[in-house]
Amino acid sequence: MSSVILDQPAEEQTAAVTQPKKSKKREEREQILAKFHKENLHWGNVDWVVLIWMAGIHIGAVAALFFISWQAIVTCLVLHWATASIGICLGYHRYLSHKSFKLRAPAEFFVLLCGVLSGEGSPLTWAATHRLHHQKSDKHGDPHSPFEGNWWSHLLWLFVYRDKELNDKFADHYIPDFKNRPMIQFFEKTYPLWLIGSGFAMYGIGYAMGGNFMGWSMLLWGLCARMAFVYNSTWFVNSATHLWGYRNYETTDQSKNLWWVAIVAYGEGWHNNHHAHPSVAPAGHRKWEIDITWWSIRALRAIGMAYDVNDRIPEKNAEPEIDPEPGKNGIVVAK
Ligand SMILES: [Zn+2]
Ligand SMILES: [Zn+2]
Repeated sequence: MSSVILDQPAEEQTAAVTQPKKSKKREEREQILAKFHKENLHWGNVDWVVLIWMAGIHIGAVAALFFISWQAIVTCLVLHWATASIGICLGYHRYLSHKSFKLRAPAEFFVLLCGVLSGEGSPLTWAATHRLHHQKSDKHGDPHSPFEGNWWSHLLWLFVYRDKELNDKFADHYIPDFKNRPMIQFFEKTYPLWLIGSGFAMYGIGYAMGGNFMGWSMLLWGLCARMAFVYNSTWFVNSATHLWGYRNYETTDQSKNLWWVAIVAYGEGWHNNHHAHPSVAPAGHRKWEIDITWWSIRALRAIGMAYDVNDRIPEKNAEPEIDPEPGKNGIVVAK
């Protein structure tokens, strides 16, 4: 609500009445969102921790070719599925960002732990960034639209530095529904420890199995190669599925359904379906649109660990979901 300020000149008072002042909350939100624009990527504002981490993981993935063992490759594949499909697709994306279903506490703990071990960031920052992507999709302010550059959408957007205070405020605005949950806060605070701990665990388990070579093999395949594959699969959802593929729904963004991303990203490649109906748990809406992550959600429901699952596949040509409540399915309505 605007208020007339008594010592202002009459014409300014009139302007204040006819053009309501932006609410403080909205002003703060706009300041936060400005930090996600592409212009913020320059050498004076690089997140060196993320840059060095990403370089290290990709160098480690190449080094893994010199430390091949079948035990490490099997570990890599199992952890790839657990962290990408269960942690990111099921946990961070469909559960946290879009609330497509609810989880009982033991399943929630496991799913969030898998998400943390993916190395894709803490739960709140990931989910808040994704909700912003849905809100601004392919418009200025989308954190990773390929229409601002293919490499920007694939990975360069990750290298913009944003401090903890800003990330906290960002979560206040974009994921208030989960922000104060104790389990989420636990993972927010301990996030780096899990990553460092998992690196030591990989080497330690390998060393116990077969000495130094096996230690490096497990570390390089179980952590570096696995994370490099998962990162690039997720990044293809941001880049490729807004560029290539077919559309089942006329959404206001450029999202597409792309079969090969659906394979490498466990169902998330049916991205046009998802943008049209973000609150629907299955991402595949046609018979041939196989969605492996949906199988895991059904399994959790069958054992009573997932409930209130939104499994309503929309009618063909159904209107896309619009203007949902804040936090309902990940599109925040400006107030
Ligand atoms: Zn998208
Ligand atoms: Zn989404």
